[in-house]
Amino acid sequence: MNSFSQFKDNLLHVRQNLDAICLSIGRKTDSVKILPVTKRQPLEAINFSERVGFSSVGENVVQEAQGKHDIYNGTMGWELIGHLQSNKARLAVEIFDRIQTVDSLKILQRIDRFAGELGNPQRILLQVNTSRDPAKHGLAPIEVDALVEAALNAENLVLEGFMTIGLFSSAPSVSTQTFTVLRELRDRLAEAFGQAFPELSMGMSGDLESAVKSGSTMIRVGTALFGERRTSSLNT
Ligand SMILES: *Cc1c(COP(=O)(O)O)cnc(C)c1O
Repeated sequence: MNSFSQFKDNLLHVRQNLDAICLSIGRKTDSVKILPVTKRQPLEAINFSERVGFSSVGENVVQEAQGKHDIYNGTMGWELIGHLQSNKARLAVEIFDRIQTVDSLKILQRIDRFAGELGNPQRILLQVNTSRDPAKHGLAPIEVDALVEAALNAENLVLEGFMTIGLFSSAPSVSTQTFTVLRELRDRLAEAFGQAFPELSMGMSGDLESAVKSGSTMIRVGTALFGERRTSSLNT
């Protein structure tokens, strides 16, 4: 992993890039947050993130996050950005401040139940497979209305918005399309349900420009900050 000074240089570079993109389209530069993605990076990546003022990090594997969560003593918040299996739902509710990858009624109901048992409302995003890529998790766009309704009716869930993963190594126009679909879906649902659903988590190191231009409010950035990841999941 990168040194702290390399990480700070990278962060400056990402921020400058983000600011330039925002300026070019007339968005406020503080309207897009960066979520540092620390998956398959050592615990140090979380310490680095905290030292420069981030308040949460993204992890994609529940057990890996648990390992880090158990030994980390700081104030960092945790966001789950990887697929959640129902047998890990309780643990996920215990660890994560927000689960960005809710993509079925079954998992939604389990999260609601465990959050109720823990007496702590769970913040969630619904993950939508806007590219209809069979290799990706996420709801088909046509399934989203029903899940929004279920989330709003659940007692222990706070639905804050939506998340999607762009198509890898595709032309910018194609990835822009997958992001625009999510923003338009959110706008329609916000109107229909009379709720803002403000968060649009979309864009990563390689496709953040088209995501921001399409209305992203949170880009999830790993390698552009920390360098290459280890190839397998790790516990600490
Ligand atoms: C790994 C991951 C990221 C970060 O990817 P980078 O290319 O390293 O920026 C973002 N979102 C999700 C869902 C991921 O799994």
